[in-house]
Amino acid sequence: MTTGLVVVTALRSEYAALRGQVPGATIERCGMGAARVRQWLPRVAELQPSAVAVAGVAGGLDPSLRPGDIVVATEVRDDRGRTVLRAAAPLVAELRRLGLRVHCGPMVSCDHIVSSQEERERLAATGALAVDMESAEIVRALDKGPDRVPVAVVRVIVDTAYTPLARLNTLPAGAKALRVLRRTGPALQRWADLAGPRRVLLAGPRSFCAGVERAIDIVELALQRYSRPIYVRRQIVHNAHVVADLQRQGAVFVDELSEVPDGTTVVFSAHGVAPAVRTEAERRGLNVIDATCPLVAKVHTEARRFVGRGDTVMLIGHAGHDEVEGTLGEVPGRITLVQNAAEAAAVTPDDPQRVAYVLQTTLAADDAADTVAVLRSRFPDIESSPTDDICYATTNRQRAVAAIARESDVLIVLGSANSSNSLRLVEVSERLGTPAHLVDDATGVLPDWLENAATVGVTAGASAPPHLVDEMVGALRALGPVDVIERVTAREDVTFTLPKGVTG
Ligand code: SF4
Repeated sequence: MTTGLVVVTALRSEYAALRGQVPGATIERCGMGAARVRQWLPRVAELQPSAVAVAGVAGGLDPSLRPGDIVVATEVRDDRGRTVLRAAAPLVAELRRLGLRVHCGPMVSCDHIVSSQEERERLAATGALAVDMESAEIVRALDKGPDRVPVAVVRVIVDTAYTPLARLNTLPAGAKALRVLRRTGPALQRWADLAGPRRVLLAGPRSFCAGVERAIDIVELALQRYSRPIYVRRQIVHNAHVVADLQRQGAVFVDELSEVPDGTTVVFSAHGVAPAVRTEAERRGLNVIDATCPLVAKVHTEARRFVGRGDTVMLIGHAGHDEVEGTLGEVPGRITLVQNAAEAAAVTPDDPQRVAYVLQTTLAADDAADTVAVLRSRFPDIESSPTDDICYATTNRQRAVAAIARESDVLIVLGSANSSNSLRLVEVSERLGTPAHLVDDATGVLPDWLENAATVGVTAGASAPPHLVDEMVGALRALGPVDVIERVTAREDVTFTLPKGVTG
């Protein structure tokens, strides 16, 4: 018979802290150090747990840690190797919901108590946040075979790099750590309740579009070709992971040209810029590389064409978005922003006979159609682009979500909060009656979303890297067996050429 959650502690004080605090769980004490762990491990076969949490106290290595902080391990290491832990994200969210200070990162296990400053510094230099004596041995034993169960390691910091280690039961820090450990109980149980098999529906296409790939390539090539730093005006694409990755490579992101020093190189983002920005960059003699997506540039061209022949142009889009700011700036005063059907019903152009509309490339097709319908009913002669302004990538990703939403209990959209096309994917799903959530990565997933969700839909906005989807599926797999099914509604083979500044 299977036990539910098994919580493994090493010390008597840890065991006492958690006993009675994790409803429905079996609390075990394995003893201190890897040798004791090996003696205890046969208990796992007897207990047949549905999930295992290794819980207790640990020594802090990272200077940012304070006594009472919690470290949830993303991997555990010792001198025999490392094991990655992917199931912990909902646990982190649950612990934070309890008001606890939680850090995620690598944990190292040693065969002795690490007390010297020199050894702590050496371990900290490897990137490990905290050190204990049992986690690596326990996790390695459990991370094997077809019957592996979700495993998490939760350690409360008892001493830090700046406080000498003393006996746990005599330290105020020790008492504090054990009080915090006691508080983790309900979160451990709630996390364990998520364990179980699931079906994962992957929407296809998803993730990077041709315009985003081009923009990222441009920055990377500029970093290789020109002297650093390379400045990028605004986020190159609206994704926190992409921006952080390019920052690590040496790109410097700024909001305005005024922050770019004379004589340097600046890249304009995929969302495009107003002509006034180009003129200013030219006046200052900056080396400009334009990563504006050709499909955004096409909308600018259309807007200019309509204004040139005397039309008032309605731009259907969202106020404040970088792309909208760029398009509005094409002909200031001659392009009117219309955000929705209500605004379309109220807009008053100078000459109702001479009107045209263009669209932001990343709108929800249904919403845009409603707004266009209102404009057409009021201005029957209204002109528009001969081809769709909503780009192929936006359209394809929305259709792909529509194809999986009804079958899913919940949809997870990988993308950043400022990504217009990612937000629209959430809306498409919700319009079809399936709750959807936008997260930067798997660590943003909350336990509530997965509770009772037998089928989880997964997609990613056009600016979200593909590896985030793999990590999301990995996180779900770490909570139990998953059956991954991909539903592909379109094949994409669009590519864009690179601008002269980074080729040749
Ligand atoms: S979402 Fe569309 S308009 Fe935006 S960068 Fe991608 S291809 Fe270009």
